[in-house]
Amino acid sequence: MYKRESLSRRKRRLRYARIRTFIILVLIVGCSVVFFQNNGRGKNEQKPANSYAISIEDSFYSGNSEGVIEDNTGTKDMNTNDMGKEAEVDNEEERENIKEKSIDDWRIMLINEDNPVPDDYTFELSSLDEFREFDSRAIDDLKMLIEDCRRETGGATIWAQSAYRDRSSQERLYNNKIKQYMNSGMSKEEAEKLASTSVSRPGTSEHEVGLAVDFNYANVEFENTKAFKWLADNAHKYGFILRYPEGKQSITKVIYEPWHFRYVGKEHAEVIKSKGFCLEEYIEYLKNNS
Ligand SMILES: [Zn+2]
Repeated sequence: MYKRESLSRRKRRLRYARIRTFIILVLIVGCSVVFFQNNGRGKNEQKPANSYAISIEDSFYSGNSEGVIEDNTGTKDMNTNDMGKEAEVDNEEERENIKEKSIDDWRIMLINEDNPVPDDYTFELSSLDEFREFDSRAIDDLKMLIEDCRRETGGATIWAQSAYRDRSSQERLYNNKIKQYMNSGMSKEEAEKLASTSVSRPGTSEHEVGLAVDFNYANVEFENTKAFKWLADNAHKYGFILRYPEGKQSITKVIYEPWHFRYVGKEHAEVIKSKGFCLEEYIEYLKNNS
């Protein structure tokens, strides 16, 4: 009797032990599944979605009763810190992207005394007429600019006197200018310095990348023509800017050239025109505001 009793008690204890072990195992497995699932989701969540969600919550908190703010103070502080970091990272990334974008944008490539044409810069040219070429990506805008200028002014005289120039043409022009100044009694040094304010040194001319055009006789008288007046009002709509405006010589290092227009694309030209910038100022503006 005693033996049988103790035997069934032992069996019962054994069964309880098995059940306990089973429950513990189930709990362990269950917890593990929940843990790994949460971990995985955390990693897969994208930052922008996160920061968006948090910023919505944040504005929600600030617009509600004090009670709501107090209830969430702890979480909110943590979130705000996280959000701050994430927003910072996002902004930095964005800033870098915009900087790179503006630097990579061939249309606003800065070429001047301090920024020569990059050695590895390649581009394609298309014919404007029998003698002149322009960057293939911008030539249609140039053609339309000239056509519309003639039409809208009732036949103003306008033609592209010089568009793309290869390095040797630029050298010839530059050397001729130096000779001209030296013939008038200047030293070579003086002549070179003065020449570079009206003819860019070889390797630093926008004409060498096929994005600049000189109209008519390329002299200051061009300013008094119907064509110039039309260009001053409309060139930006075709993506062109007056590259060396009056009063900007201290920045561009080039004299006022009413005849020289530069292609920068419509969206850039709009801003440059409305803000009264020269290209150097516009690029600074992009760097500071992006
Ligand atoms: Zn020019």
